[in-house]
Amino acid sequence: MQRHGTPLYVYDLAEVRARAAELRAALPAGARLLYSLKANPLPPVVRAVRTAGCGAEISSPGELDAAVAAGFDPADLLCTGPGKAARELAAAVDRGVSSFSCESAAELERLARAGRDHRPRILLRLQPPGGPASGLSMTQGRQFGFEPEEAVRVCRTAGDDWAPDGFHVYLGSQLDGTDALLAAFTHAAEVIGRVCEATGVAPSAIGLGGGFPWPYAARGAGRALTGLREGLELLLAGEPLSSVPEVWFESGRRLTASCGRLLTTVLDVKERAGGVVVVVDAGIDALGGMAGLGRVLRPAAEPENLSAAGRSREPVTADVVGPLCTPLDRLAVRTAIARPEPGEVLCVPNVGAYGLTASLTSFLSRPSPPELVVDGDEFTGLWQLTTRTAPAVLPGTGPCGGPGAA
Ligand SMILES: *Cc1c(COP(=O)(O)O)cnc(C)c1O
Repeated sequence: MQRHGTPLYVYDLAEVRARAAELRAALPAGARLLYSLKANPLPPVVRAVRTAGCGAEISSPGELDAAVAAGFDPADLLCTGPGKAARELAAAVDRGVSSFSCESAAELERLARAGRDHRPRILLRLQPPGGPASGLSMTQGRQFGFEPEEAVRVCRTAGDDWAPDGFHVYLGSQLDGTDALLAAFTHAAEVIGRVCEATGVAPSAIGLGGGFPWPYAARGAGRALTGLREGLELLLAGEPLSSVPEVWFESGRRLTASCGRLLTTVLDVKERAGGVVVVVDAGIDALGGMAGLGRVLRPAAEPENLSAAGRSREPVTADVVGPLCTPLDRLAVRTAIARPEPGEVLCVPNVGAYGLTASLTSFLSRPSPPELVVDGDEFTGLWQLTTRTAPAVLPGTGPCGGPGAA
């Protein structure tokens, strides 16, 4: 850390392998587990997930590049996302991506054009009404997938060439343990069963989603998944799943959250009415920009004062804020921490998923924090996003228009 300064992300690949082995052991033996690259697309992290036996779920050209850079065969990738443009679909099909989760009738047409010479496997994404009771429900997002009746209509009119090969349901994230997960997977299986029955489609693959929980930027571990495997074995033995050759699950955070820590240096400590304010060198440009905007997650990080370890230091209740010029730049509000002093280093745990990748990396044009990768005690590499300090003018376009300007 001394060498690389702060803010600095540190990822441990040994931790990724341990989490992947654990989650795979909580799923039935024949099920496939796909890693959602949006949680952390850094190639060595993705590579560790791949070598632990997972497939991958991608939803952008950049994630496709990252998956390929990590050694994935495009034939092992599922392409998802509610707005896939014709150009992106064509590029993904050309590169050999084998499976697509299709989100609308218009997208099915784009996919049919893109896959004219090489038809990929198509799963219709279903968006059933009513979602899980806990976690971040995807059914709050009205943009995803087909309503079941809509999917039935599309299956009936798609024609034999473009009849779907299966279905995909993803009900939400951070489901709170085995019971909530089994309830969501059961609901997904029921909806898929109804659509299969109404259309006569016999799926070759289905995706039941995920939602495996892990704390975000806070201490602790995700709830144990005791009994999940047994519950899923029962579900998979019943109709309609028992005759489906491939059943897939997806996870981002359960695989990579725990591998990552963010180290940040205290710049200032202010005693203010209402509590201590700790100014650090990592803001919402480095961690949880979406949380900073109050859009997805609250600023509820639980940084630990590494420098105070082993010293007697009074605990204080503090707001931990970043260096950006906005009152929204808060990592933690009223968190308990060993009283920090300028120059000391804080550590935010469990940020290997939705850390840097979910941050406002361009905002205020600060350098992006380096990402240091270790495998247990061994250093394996140092990465850094290129920073947007000096945007380049594209060839053929002047700053005020001119020939070729869009
Ligand atoms: C984001 C996403 C995931 C991963 O969610 P986690 O909470 O990180 O496991 C899985 N599937 C889909 C379709 C997603 O959009």
